[in-house]
Amino acid sequence: MKTSVIGYPRIGKNRELKFASEKFFGKEISVEELLSVAKEIRKGNWLAQKNAGVTYISSNDFSFYDNVLDTAVLLNVIPKRYRDLGLSEIETYFAMARGYQGDKGNVKALAMKKWFNTNYHYIVPEIDDDTVITLSGNKPVDEFSEAKALGVDTKVAIVGPFTFLKLARFTGKKKAEDVEPAIVSAYEDLLGKIAAAGASWVEFDEPYLVRDLTEEDIRLFSNIYTALLSDKHGLKILLQTYFGDVRDIYSKLSGFNFDGIGLDFLEGRKTLELVKTNGFAKDKILFAGLLNGKNIWKNQYSKTLESLASLKEIAGDNVVLSTSCSLLHVPYSLSGEDALSEEYKKHFAFAEEKLKELSEISLISDGESLEAGVILAENDKCFSGRIDSVDEAVQARVASIKDSDYERKPDFFEREKIQKEKLQLPLFPTTTIGSFPQTQKVRKNRQAFRKGEISKEQYVAFNEEKIRECIKLQEEIGLDVLVHGEFERNDMVEYFGEHLSGYVFTRQAWVQSYGTRCVKPPIIWGDVRRKDPITVSWSKFAKSCTDKPVKGMLTGPVTILNWSFPREDISIKESTLQIALAIRDEVLDLEANGIDIIQIDEAALREKLPLRKSDWYSEYLDWAIPAFRLVHSGVKPETQIHTHMCYSEFTDIIPAIDAMDADVITFEASRSDLLILDALLENHFKTEVGPGVYDIHSPRVPSIDEIVTALTKMREKISDSKLWVNPDCGLKTRGDEETKASLLNLVQAAKTVREKVGS
Ligand code: GLN
Ligand code: ZN
Repeated sequence: MKTSVIGYPRIGKNRELKFASEKFFGKEISVEELLSVAKEIRKGNWLAQKNAGVTYISSNDFSFYDNVLDTAVLLNVIPKRYRDLGLSEIETYFAMARGYQGDKGNVKALAMKKWFNTNYHYIVPEIDDDTVITLSGNKPVDEFSEAKALGVDTKVAIVGPFTFLKLARFTGKKKAEDVEPAIVSAYEDLLGKIAAAGASWVEFDEPYLVRDLTEEDIRLFSNIYTALLSDKHGLKILLQTYFGDVRDIYSKLSGFNFDGIGLDFLEGRKTLELVKTNGFAKDKILFAGLLNGKNIWKNQYSKTLESLASLKEIAGDNVVLSTSCSLLHVPYSLSGEDALSEEYKKHFAFAEEKLKELSEISLISDGESLEAGVILAENDKCFSGRIDSVDEAVQARVASIKDSDYERKPDFFEREKIQKEKLQLPLFPTTTIGSFPQTQKVRKNRQAFRKGEISKEQYVAFNEEKIRECIKLQEEIGLDVLVHGEFERNDMVEYFGEHLSGYVFTRQAWVQSYGTRCVKPPIIWGDVRRKDPITVSWSKFAKSCTDKPVKGMLTGPVTILNWSFPREDISIKESTLQIALAIRDEVLDLEANGIDIIQIDEAALREKLPLRKSDWYSEYLDWAIPAFRLVHSGVKPETQIHTHMCYSEFTDIIPAIDAMDADVITFEASRSDLLILDALLENHFKTEVGPGVYDIHSPRVPSIDEIVTALTKMREKISDSKLWVNPDCGLKTRGDEETKASLLNLVQAAKTVREKVGS
């Protein structure tokens, strides 16, 4: 049986691309050096797949920052303000991704959004009325040829035209259908070049098909592909979908001139049913996504073989075993995890191990594995219980949660009055999202403690000194609600995971989140409980350094779950409630220790929101929002609960966000032109809000004027008594200097606006 991998991780086994890119940004290495690091990574990826015997290996799955951005550049979708900088090609590319501030000008980055239901972020292409879509690059062809020269015959993977247009922002009068002919002709030109380079397969990634499709969407898809597939230049074309099922268009797909159709049988709850009821076109190959590209648990071979057998009954021999999505979402390899014992490791498969799984399953399925019996027996053992994973007391506590545990008393408006009275903050209170720059020294201190090179006392003393400095800095800057700076945290989820039982950690299991930013999601291994107070001593210390209010800083249960690799043996709802109870205990401890403002970050609340609207509440929000309320429902009315989200894309779930019943919410807004504000107004949003006034994902320092302008716009839609002033996310990835300059401007802008109001 043939096998297929939709895409491979590309950040490098030891994050080589991250480090090289960062050096390039810092002008420490040349563009040639950066290109050669990238080339080595691609080579390693292709050879790993080739050696594992994968039949369909992708090229063009590599990216310096993001594949959607690559596609935008390929199609000449480069907004004028970036062109006008007059930079080199690669510098223009990075200016779009990260913004540019230098002698050639000062431009913000393009907006960034979550890639479907993952923690990967793509850059949102911007199409205005003057955009001329035309083929203006050669990356897919170059990478195909590069692989070919290494003896690897690849399928060329490209973000499909339909998904590209659906994800792009149209900033002028034009709509997707207006650019249809241009995009078809650009892709046609591309197919011609790919064919000329000697490729046989092209993979068009069209994950947008798993969303709810309107008739207009279906028309757009049909028009594009009818035109595009009328001349395939002798190529075979794979339509690749993932992250769900394609129920709105499945029955029509057989009518298109595709040669292969890739379907996700894991996240696509209806995929199997669709194939069974509608059959599968005889003239096409079914790329069956049965190997999880998003989670790290071993594949259960017996189940997969069963699925394959039933698919073969329908599609005959035209079945290819595939990953369910790109392996971009899992780490490279288990080989670096020496600290994990076999008892644990035997349950996991990262990208490299998944390659082996593909090959083993395909051999067994073909009846060609001599050791099939042994392999299957070994594999089965992994699914009959795991050591140290059951905690009966935790299970009992979850079972005894009452409805009233999900409700905070008194209601929001009464609390708002009580809190204003107690906290006596100025109008437009200023604050930050929590973390301050994580300098080398801060990281070294944590590492040294971890390795046992310094004592606990030394470790604590260093961090307390940092907290003292951070508080002093915030006082000097003139912020109103201070934070301790989060110097003890490597990562907002891993840190909490380390203080909870039921978690397993890795050393090298990095996954790309955006650009050069990687995360190392911990693994939820068993039932979760809080071992001891987690953040209390740091917050208490910070409070002792100042008379101003200090905000306690926690990560919420939905985010902890969403940024961990979840269990597959119990529901994610059950896991989330276990975590919610653990964080609830921490909230109550902070309050008991005099912390009267507590932020519970739900940076990733939206992440597992089902891609189809009809599933939003029943499958997710109906338990995720109550899980958040369970965390804070036990506090006193005067304790102010904040939450924070890393994006502004919640226009469509505003009632659910309000129902989290926090007192204040901060969120990202600066990169998305404040579109959310209208929606807040329309929905009579009750929660106080701090839409981020500047973008922390780039090193650029916002001017006072710019922040005043943003605040002025916000005031048109948000009442003065509810508006907070803050950056759009934590500052840990920024440098000390730019942070201080930015925050000084932020405070000055708030003061300017206060003066205007006469307060
Ligand atoms: N409190 C966290 C911080 O400031 C929030 C991070 C996030 O939202 N991703 O770092
Ligand atoms: Zn954030």
